[in-house]
Amino acid sequence: MIRKLDYILDDISFQIYDDFKNIVNINSFTSNLEGIEKVSKKLIQIGEKLGVPLESIYSSKEVRPHLMYGRDKKEDYYAFIGHFDTVHPPQSDFQTMSEVDGLLKGPGTNDMKAGLIVSLYSFYILKKLYPNRDLPFKILFNSDEEVGSLDSQEILESEFKGAKAAFIFEPGRPNGEIVTSRKGVGSLEIEVIGKPAHSGVEPWNGVNSLLAACEIIQKLEALNDYEKGVIVGCNEINGGVAKNVVPAYTKIIVDIRFATIEQQKKLFNDIEAILTSKNSVGATIKYDLELNRPPLQKSKESGRFAKLYMDIAHGLGIKCEEIATGGGSDGNFLSAMGIPVVDGMGAVGNFSHTKKEFIYKESLIYRIKIFVLYMSQLLDNKDTISKEKT
Ligand SMILES: [Zn+2]
Repeated sequence: MIRKLDYILDDISFQIYDDFKNIVNINSFTSNLEGIEKVSKKLIQIGEKLGVPLESIYSSKEVRPHLMYGRDKKEDYYAFIGHFDTVHPPQSDFQTMSEVDGLLKGPGTNDMKAGLIVSLYSFYILKKLYPNRDLPFKILFNSDEEVGSLDSQEILESEFKGAKAAFIFEPGRPNGEIVTSRKGVGSLEIEVIGKPAHSGVEPWNGVNSLLAACEIIQKLEALNDYEKGVIVGCNEINGGVAKNVVPAYTKIIVDIRFATIEQQKKLFNDIEAILTSKNSVGATIKYDLELNRPPLQKSKESGRFAKLYMDIAHGLGIKCEEIATGGGSDGNFLSAMGIPVVDGMGAVGNFSHTKKEFIYKESLIYRIKIFVLYMSQLLDNKDTISKEKT
């Protein structure tokens, strides 16, 4: 099997890199809808060539294409999930792929156009290895993951209820680790409303919103418990208009992370208690507290899926451990639906969301190799993993 796989990969590696370069070189910043359309068409073309017919689908909210394969599959399938939007705007000077010392650098290389290529080519090779089988795979590549999948969340939640496991092709971590848990993400915007006054003439008639904001920030920051995975980051503040005016308005923007649903519930209660209690200057508080993504929690089942992947990598002499990370992905939504999720199955690289973003060139090939062997074990064993009871 491995020899046959090496032979196939050798034969198509040029094509793999070429398709990868072509999708990296099209800008697909989340809000660049024209670029999003272009990349989606390119991916459909690549899918057609590989025998994986992708179709554009739309949510009920926005005219933004997402790509799917296997919509007819209702249960007992494996979900392959990825996104083709990036965080790099068209105005940036970081637009095309370049190769330097075994690294492929470019916008969205690591996060996560390489992962799309890994999943599509793995599927293609598995079709060659199992020519007589209708492979139980269902794919979603969405185009708004980088802004929280606001548009595609309803598709994820309605289309993937019957998945027996979900594999997320976000990048592997810098040492090749896969991801088995991710923190949940919340956001909080607070408006502190005071009263203006001339600070030289009658400051006592003003209500200083900045002062109230500082009190609130102190209390919110005290909720941090890094060891347990709770993060409350008061990271942005805007307030005041001039040196001699008591500030009547201050806005605070807070990033929130948590490892479990229980933590999230307690944290949200604690935050609301702080925001609804009185501050010493009598400013009015308005706030908007939202859960953006639930946590991706490791389960016994997802642990078994992850272990098999790592065992296969180790068998090939490739380093691969599992890791927990603070950043969210679409795996978080699927995990909250009770589906075992293994994330970080894309290529291996670093510096996502910066102009230093890259993947290790060879990882594009060996990650396909690991994933094909992994899936073939699952297919051959008729997935004993999710039926194990220990
Ligand atoms: Zn990503």
